[in-house]
Amino acid sequence: MSEPSFTGRPYLQILFECCQVYQRVYKDRSGRFYLGRCPTCLRQIRFRVAPHGSPARRFRVR
Ligand SMILES: [Zn+2]
Repeated sequence: MSEPSFTGRPYLQILFECCQVYQRVYKDRSGRFYLGRCPTCLRQIRFRVAPHGSPARRFRVR
């Protein structure tokens, strides 16, 4: 499975605890949210981007 390079485009590494699987999520067009979907059960999640930013690049969701 080849993946195009997204260097420069911000993303977060999300652990979907529902299925114990990691997935990258990218910012939506507005740049205010990260949108992600569990690749296994297709549950959608949305992260609000903190105004001051966050050093953390990894999150887990339930
Ligand atoms: Zn899931």
